Amino acid sequence: MTGIAIAIDGPAGTGKSTVSREVAKRLKLAYFDTGATYRVATLACLREGVDLANASDVAAMVATMNVELILDPANPRVLLDGEDVSSLIRTDTVALTVSKVATNLEARPLLQQMQRDVIAAELEGGLSEGRGVVAEGRDITTVIAPEADVRILMTADDEVRVARRAGEGADAATVRQAVLGRDKTDSAVSSFHEAADGVLTLDTTDLTIEEAVQGVMDRAAEARA
Ligand code: C5P
Repeated sequence: MTGIAIAIDGPAGTGKSTVSREVAKRLKLAYFDTGATYRVATLACLREGVDLANASDVAAMVATMNVELILDPANPRVLLDGEDVSSLIRTDTVALTVSKVATNLEARPLLQQMQRDVIAAELEGGLSEGRGVVAEGRDITTVIAPEADVRILMTADDEVRVARRAGEGADAATVRQAVLGRDKTDSAVSSFHEAADGVLTLDTTDLTIEEAVQGVMDRAAEARA
């Protein structure tokens, strides 16, 4: 039996990362945050002085960057040239620039292929030893893993999403831009506000994390039955 692929899509602040990690822990699956691939590509470009407006230069950096993803849900990490950059890719500098890489139509297909390869590797072996993966991020239920066993679109009201991110620390204007502004820019290249055919919607506006985790676990159990 090959492993299970659980794909979770949706905009920022819906709880998809927290919920995906927790489900991966409970089911002993790998946890794949696809946003990290865009973030590390952005960091690589910033470090090397690549002009983010130059689509080909950015794509060339993506094609050659030396990235390792550690898909442990208890301690997910991203290495760039062997250095742990897991915190660096979460800074405001990266958060406010990452859409430039994500909307780059030369770089995006390269990162999408990387994501497909990561998922395929976990269904055969990898960190999960073939048990499978919870993969989260925009496009995951449609473009990257349309064949996933479970496909879920997580949603939540805009104000709730902003409030959740604000609770994590940064000032209000930065949070609003990082959540709603980024969604708007990202919408140019991916659709993550409406569920595609066969994709289940999970509205987390009024759910606790535990309830949302349970919602995904129930769907995974149904898919396996
Ligand atoms: O999910 P996260 O906030 O880490 O994603 C960072 C950015 O990477 C998003 O704003 C989006 O621009 C891009 N992204 C994407 N497709 C994905 C995951 C992330 O375009 N599957």
